[in-house]
Amino acid sequence: MRSTFYNYIILPIFLLFTGISSIWSQGELKIVDKTVSFGMREANNRSIDAIIVHSTFNNSGGEKYDIDLVIKQFSSYGVSSHYVIGRDGTVYQLVKEQNVSYHAGKSQLPDGRTAVNTCSIGIEIMTSFDESPTDEQIDALTLLVNDIKSRYDIKFILRHNDIAPGRKTDPWNMDWDAFLKKLDE
Ligand SMILES: [Zn+2]
Repeated sequence: MRSTFYNYIILPIFLLFTGISSIWSQGELKIVDKTVSFGMREANNRSIDAIIVHSTFNNSGGEKYDIDLVIKQFSSYGVSSHYVIGRDGTVYQLVKEQNVSYHAGKSQLPDGRTAVNTCSIGIEIMTSFDESPTDEQIDALTLLVNDIKSRYDIKFILRHNDIAPGRKTDPWNMDWDAFLKKLDE
């Protein structure tokens, strides 16, 4: 049996601090490490000036928003992204920012550069063709993009379909203008 000291002194103090820290953690990024070794290559001192937003889901059977199934699907295609944002706003990191992730495919930035993977960070939002990103996902994306912007001189924040029009349609069902506005709030 636990001591009275534990039940009446230690436990309430523990719960109090847990409650306070959960309030403090609101508005902070929660990043879960899911490092992969495919769909990427290691790099040193690459210069990053673009952020590309995508959407994805597991289309290979099973739960469509299961991070491990999404990663398994990436593996079968030999692709990746630096980050994937789950429906609840959890941010999974698959590739370190300094490494190159294969997320853009054949694509072109507005200034004509076509080696988009070498200068960009790729972020996937888990959505499907008929669902929009959740509020939690937009909040996490906003925090993540603002965090990246604070660390690099970012020139372009674009959708996959901006750099591969006709070939790509993602991110799906997303109010892009509202997101860009939220970034500056
Ligand atoms: Zn994409």
